[in-house]
Amino acid sequence: MPNSSVALLDNFRVIVLIGPGGVGKGTIARALIAADPSLWLSRSWTTRTRRESESGDEYVFVARKEFEYAIERDGFFEWAEFHGNLYGTPMPSPPVGCDVLLEIDVQGAQQVLERLPSACVILIKAPSMSSLEDRLMSRGDSMEHVAVRLASTPNEIAIGEAIAREIVVNDDLTAAVSKIQAIIEELRRTRPTNS
Ligand code: 5GP
Repeated sequence: MPNSSVALLDNFRVIVLIGPGGVGKGTIARALIAADPSLWLSRSWTTRTRRESESGDEYVFVARKEFEYAIERDGFFEWAEFHGNLYGTPMPSPPVGCDVLLEIDVQGAQQVLERLPSACVILIKAPSMSSLEDRLMSRGDSMEHVAVRLASTPNEIAIGEAIAREIVVNDDLTAAVSKIQAIIEELRRTRPTNS
């Protein structure tokens, strides 16, 4: 990342939620944003097709060619290929006074940390594998897709545990959100900038 991009990030904190598919990262992210006007959720780009259960606001859905063009133009803060689809965070541009919340995969979080070591990575873990499976199935994905996602979970958790500053188990949504809010409050007290 060019130095000018790093300078752009000096005025806000970056909080990164990671965790296996089905753990509830998206639900937690939405609850955090709804409760905190000083937190801004980055909207990712993806080449994956929209699920029937999705409204269309979850991502900017683009063709692979368009995504690759944006990579060439250094348009992403981080990007990664996940199970055959590309996902990327555009260069963050939050409203003044807001901190940035990213909900991304572990490869993306590794890139964020390389570029911005002060980013706060929070790993969300599920209380059990069966809860992950239930949640993945409820999204309407195929059995094969769910099986592939579950197979990659142990590796995602192992990398996540190695890079996360905090680990939160999502056995109760309200409690998990409160724990993350406390982490963010602490971050705001002790880390005024990302420099
Ligand atoms: P899904 O297809 O289930 O919505 O997301 C698949 C994975 O991609 C999830 O782990 C999700 O957090 C991750 N993801 C979503 N947006 C981004 C992004 O901008 N960058 C990266 N690296 N991963 C992302």
